[in-house]
Amino acid sequence: DGVALTPHQDPGDQDVEMTLRPRKLSEFVGQARVREQLELVLHGALKRGEQPDHVLFSGPPGLGKTSLSMIIATELGASIRVTSGPALERPGDLAAMLSNLAEGDVLFIDEIHRIARPAEEMLYLAMEDYRVDIVVGKGPGATSIPLELAPFTLVGATTRSGALTGPLRDRFGFTAHMEFYTAVELEKVVRRSAGILAVDLRDDGAVEIAGRSRGTPRIANRLLRRVRDFAEVRADGVVTREIARAALEVYDVDEIGLDRLDRAVLGALIRSFRGGPVGISTLAVAVGEEPSTVEEVCEPFLVRAGMLARTPRGRVATVAAWQHLGMTPPQHALG
Ligand code: ATP
Repeated sequence: DGVALTPHQDPGDQDVEMTLRPRKLSEFVGQARVREQLELVLHGALKRGEQPDHVLFSGPPGLGKTSLSMIIATELGASIRVTSGPALERPGDLAAMLSNLAEGDVLFIDEIHRIARPAEEMLYLAMEDYRVDIVVGKGPGATSIPLELAPFTLVGATTRSGALTGPLRDRFGFTAHMEFYTAVELEKVVRRSAGILAVDLRDDGAVEIAGRSRGTPRIANRLLRRVRDFAEVRADGVVTREIARAALEVYDVDEIGLDRLDRAVLGALIRSFRGGPVGISTLAVAVGEEPSTVEEVCEPFLVRAGMLARTPRGRVATVAAWQHLGMTPPQHALG
């Protein structure tokens, strides 16, 4: 099923992803700028014997935000606690999490933009002063009990940094935007994974998989596994360019890595709205998806691939998009 190839994590992936996850900054492929900056932030604090600033990672799913957070903990020689915005609905959940942190721990909050307001407000004080105020009771008799926390570093991850409130964003001392990976970087990722999984991956096979991975390491690893299945079932297990191509055909991934949903979005934009402009919600309804999925998952890659443009009046298909779908662009289409 082509849907299984979206950058979202699916539960079946978790075990393999753990084995393929880079453990050290030096094993982490690409994102050279983020890595360099992060190294300075962490080692600067270590040198001064201070707790490093809170860190925010933003960017599309599957680019390594969770991996980098775990690496931060490793580099600091600290433990990591993992939670997510949606899991912190009540401030009490967050208070419990925070009060259990040991000195120097890393607290990782995935999808931090989805944290509920009362928990977010508790986080402000925790981030700033390593302190929380626990409210006991209700109404006029309510009292608040201050609670000291051990110094910790919060690492937040978000696919929508624009959805973060100003006060929350301001409390991160270091913010990094994760970019899509280049084909060369993804080749390194699949080579490394093939080594770990003992897959006989040829150079041209690695190039083929990397080129179709939507700039995303999680997808590269997933495609590698699907291609390995194909190679073992239909051939002799060796992953060559031909085998990779034939396998990815079966999984509905096209030459430039667009999956079924990406193509559905472009198809709707072009066929139902004559190339746009059209609003993201209307487009999402047309393909039967959540607007957030279209906006956070499809759109960033389609923009980066030069297929879709954001304009003040809505989303517009580019000349390349028309051509990719085998259609003739109208005169007014954007280049
Ligand atoms: P999400 O936002 O969906 O949680 P994420 O951005 O946190 O995704 P990770 O879970 O860190 O992404 O990465 C997904 C998988 O991709 C990892 O298990 C790892 O195998 C691989 N991966 C990610 N980044 C890299 C990298 N830079 N080098 C090597 N492998 C990577």
